[in-house]
Amino acid sequence: MNPKVMVIEDEEPLAVLLRYNLEAEGFEVETIGRGDDAELRLRETVPDLVVLDWMLPGLSGIELCRRLRLRPETERLPVIMLTARGEETDRVRGLSTGADDYVVKPFSVPELMARIRAMLRRTNPGSISSVLDVGGIVLDRQAHRVTRNGRPVRLGPTEFRLLEFLMGSPGRVYSREQVLDGVWGQDIYVDERTVDVHIGRLRKAINRGRERDPIRTVRGAGYSFDKES
Ligand code: CA
Repeated sequence: MNPKVMVIEDEEPLAVLLRYNLEAEGFEVETIGRGDDAELRLRETVPDLVVLDWMLPGLSGIELCRRLRLRPETERLPVIMLTARGEETDRVRGLSTGADDYVVKPFSVPELMARIRAMLRRTNPGSISSVLDVGGIVLDRQAHRVTRNGRPVRLGPTEFRLLEFLMGSPGRVYSREQVLDGVWGQDIYVDERTVDVHIGRLRKAINRGRERDPIRTVRGAGYSFDKES
C-alpha cells in the first residue's frame, strides 16, 4: 500500500506543487486548505504523515498540531510543519509545537521530499522503500549506491538525484521544466539546457557497450525512464 500524505496548506500553487511531486513518488495525497476542515477530516481518516502549514484559515497549524497530540488516534502522527521565514521560525524552534520536523519557506521541493522520506523511514519503515529497482538498474537511496546488472555505477550527486527522480515513476514523461523543479528545486535558477547536459552524463555513466539506454528522449516533450531495459 502506498503511504498516505495529507498536505494542509492554503497557498493553492504550493499545495498543487506538493501534490504533484508526492504523487510522482507514489504517495497517495490529500490536500486541504483550511485548518478547521483538516481537523474534521483527521477524525475520519489518519494518514501516514501530515505536511502542515503554520498560517491557515479556520484554525492555525500550531493549534491543529496541539489538538492532534491530545487524541490517541493522532498523538504519534508524524507532522512536518511549514513556516515562513522570520520570527515565526524562532517561535517554532523555541515552542514545543508538537511537530516532528519543520521546514522554512521558501524551501526546495527535493529538500522537503527528502525530509518526508526520512521521517516515514523512521516512523513507518515498511511504508517506504529505500531501494528502486527497474530493469536491472538498482538505486539505493540510503546507501547512495547504483548498480546496473550488478555492476557498480559511479554517479555525481546531481546525476544520482536525476536518476532517482526519473526512476521514481518509470514510463512517465517529464518536461525539462518538471525535471528542473524535481531535481534542482524551484528556487534555483537553472537553464533548461542544463538538464540535457546532466542527462548526457547520466547516460554515459549507466550505459555500457550494447546495453539498451533506459532513458528515452521524447521529442518536444522531455525525458522518461523506460519500465523495462
Ligand atoms: Ca498559509
